[in-house]
Amino acid sequence: MKHNFNAGPSVLPREVIERTAQAVLDFQGEGLSILEISHRAKYFQPVVDEAVALFKELLDIPEGYSVIFLGGGASLQFCMVPFNLLEHKAAYLNTGVWAKKAQKEAKLFGEVVEVASSADANYTFIPKKYEIPADADYFHITTNNTIYGTEMFTDPDSPVPVVADMSSDILSRHIDVSKYGLIYGGAQKNLAPAGVTFVIVKDELLGHVSRPIPTMLDYRIHTTNNSLFNTPPVLPIYSALETLRWLKRNGGVAAAEKRNIEKASLLYDAIDNSRIFVGTARPEDRSRMNICFVMKEEYKELEAEFLAFAGEKGMVGVKGHRSVGGFRASCYNALPLESVKALIECMKEFEKKH
Ligand SMILES: *Cc1c(COP(=O)(O)O)cnc(C)c1O
Repeated sequence: MKHNFNAGPSVLPREVIERTAQAVLDFQGEGLSILEISHRAKYFQPVVDEAVALFKELLDIPEGYSVIFLGGGASLQFCMVPFNLLEHKAAYLNTGVWAKKAQKEAKLFGEVVEVASSADANYTFIPKKYEIPADADYFHITTNNTIYGTEMFTDPDSPVPVVADMSSDILSRHIDVSKYGLIYGGAQKNLAPAGVTFVIVKDELLGHVSRPIPTMLDYRIHTTNNSLFNTPPVLPIYSALETLRWLKRNGGVAAAEKRNIEKASLLYDAIDNSRIFVGTARPEDRSRMNICFVMKEEYKELEAEFLAFAGEKGMVGVKGHRSVGGFRASCYNALPLESVKALIECMKEFEKKH
């Protein structure tokens, strides 16, 4: 049995994979595969509509926001956000590689103020004390730093609209959407296979920049066409729908958050009580989604051996990102508690051997 700790694309609920496979073979008993129907066919718009409705229901999204599904990944949002929202100045919080990449794109469109950064500490914490310029068009944050294993658990107070990259923690915990102007993310961490990007946007923020926006990059084109302006990523959207249905059947975001807290606490406890492993992120900012740890200095040379050992025990994807080293166990919504327990067992067994 494999335990899938991949950072992204990553583990999906078994039911979602089975239902997606079924739709590939025969979509809703129509005698056709979902791969060979028009996105304009009468049966596809309901898929998008239900996915949007479930997104709104599960995150309790207030009136005045649109949910859209696009291509291009979170990385395209790095430029689409400033294209649509940055007139003069934008504020960015630098908490990791993705945050930095988002900032780089914004510089193409206007002045960018980096309000704070934890780069000097290799992004092991989330800066807390900073001032957001009141004349910025928006304030951009990355709520979960997938590579460094840090996460922001409070919705920020900001004098300007907050834009959040939630690629790797969307639907994993309660958020107050009304405190955000725009939320986006690649779906391949917590929601669907690669290929679809979600955007939740407050409609009143759109249409205020003076530059012309190419049609495909204009959020309004997609909000007013219900994500069907052009051919959307049909299959990943269908999988996303199945994940949203699965989440609802299993108690929604609140229940998922409870499970995620349990999984993360178990694993962090094991790391903190270990003789050979040590966590890399500051305890108060530790991510529940991506749990990063290394070998203590005196055991450093055992890292490769542990990876091989874990691999033999069925652990997949526990190698840390090269900029942190060591190990990263991604514990997204769909990762079963059993997988976390198996990893802890494996760590303990390895520790006994040394
Ligand atoms: C993975 C990731 C991205 C990049 O997503 P793509 O869909 O590959 O462009 C951006 N931000 C965060 C926080 C991520 O985890």
